[in-house]
Amino acid sequence: MKTKDNPFKIAKERIEKIAKFLGIEDSIIKILETPQKEVKVSLPIKMDDGKIKVFTGYRIEHNNARGPYKGGIRYHPDVNLDEVRALALWMTYKCAVVDIPLGGAKGGIICNPKEMSEAELERLTRKYVDEIYDIIGPKKDIPAPDVNTNSKIMGWFMDEYSKLAGKISKAVVTGKPIELGGSFGRETATARGGQFVKNAMLKETGRKKPLTTIIQGFGNAGSNYAKLVYKEDKDTIIAISDSKGAIYNPNGLDPEEVLKHKKSTGSVINYPKAVTLPREDILKLECDILVLAALENAITKENANEIKAKYILELANGPITGEADEILRKKNILVLPDILANAGGVVVSYFEWLQNLKEEHWSKEEVDKKLKDVMENAYKNVKEKAEKYGVDLRTGAYILAIEKVVRAIKEKCF
Ligand code: GLU
Repeated sequence: MKTKDNPFKIAKERIEKIAKFLGIEDSIIKILETPQKEVKVSLPIKMDDGKIKVFTGYRIEHNNARGPYKGGIRYHPDVNLDEVRALALWMTYKCAVVDIPLGGAKGGIICNPKEMSEAELERLTRKYVDEIYDIIGPKKDIPAPDVNTNSKIMGWFMDEYSKLAGKISKAVVTGKPIELGGSFGRETATARGGQFVKNAMLKETGRKKPLTTIIQGFGNAGSNYAKLVYKEDKDTIIAISDSKGAIYNPNGLDPEEVLKHKKSTGSVINYPKAVTLPREDILKLECDILVLAALENAITKENANEIKAKYILELANGPITGEADEILRKKNILVLPDILANAGGVVVSYFEWLQNLKEEHWSKEEVDKKLKDVMENAYKNVKEKAEKYGVDLRTGAYILAIEKVVRAIKEKCF
């Protein structure tokens, strides 16, 4: 990663700029951008071949002024301290945008889960829990899935924590399998939330559905989004990319079929009913909506000028740099920002946590209805802030969130 694309630096610059604009004093701005606790752990694991390998893990607790720390755990070879710091910071503001009483945190382990067996991943996960046990807990810090982590991993997480705690502690982690206290709708929540935000925007701008759509990133968020909007909104998915490459068919792709192809071959590339293209190429294609569902820094000042989409939906965290944001604004491209657009995941995590604490089970319909209300309300509040201050939706979302976090910090500490 180039230094100038350091996500934590980008995240802090945004906070500083907007907080200064709001007239917030420097000492409070320092609190708004600084993680409260940073933990780095060394994780020695016996691999299947009998050799010991030492992994590095992080848990960054950014801010808990509004409630217990909350945020996922990422397994990826490129995980690094500043990335996890940025992801933790974004969680603080995301939870504030959707108005759930939680703070922000994030965890990560530098590893390549695609090259590890299930048994190795289980040992790694349990070791990580052992090492961060002291700082997590149902009312302290509640992890969840993120890139390359899933319900199975969250199940091991809960089990290991419960063994150490000497009691079943379902509410210590969200995104669990349904049988272990997971919530209906958590698996598809990030995508569902993004779909609600997209449709709220279309309704408000008077633009008719369906939309020609490009999906960058075909993991949990990207693939579920494609499936939902293809089926329910009749959107046409013209291109999809993953870490190995991209596919394109102007007449449309069936995401369910593409997913089958990816499951059997390991990638979307060489899908028979499309042309295969280099990964980056699909970002530059003409479309109504470009859905960024991969990693940070997908759009930078290097490629921002070439984007031809009308709208961008950020299902990933931090996919557009500050400089790229400026360019897109000048091109009149409407960006639905990450801390609003991908908040569906943590909203249903919050629902799961509540169900665990109250020993309740909500139906899929109930979860969906509650998620819709939260996302539509958040969109409305962000839009109102943006209009009031004459700014874009990202700035509007940060204004909404920063004001809430500042109020909580002041009430709590000063
Ligand atoms: N990893 C997801 C995110 O970035 C979900 C976090 C959570 O559910 O706590 O929002």
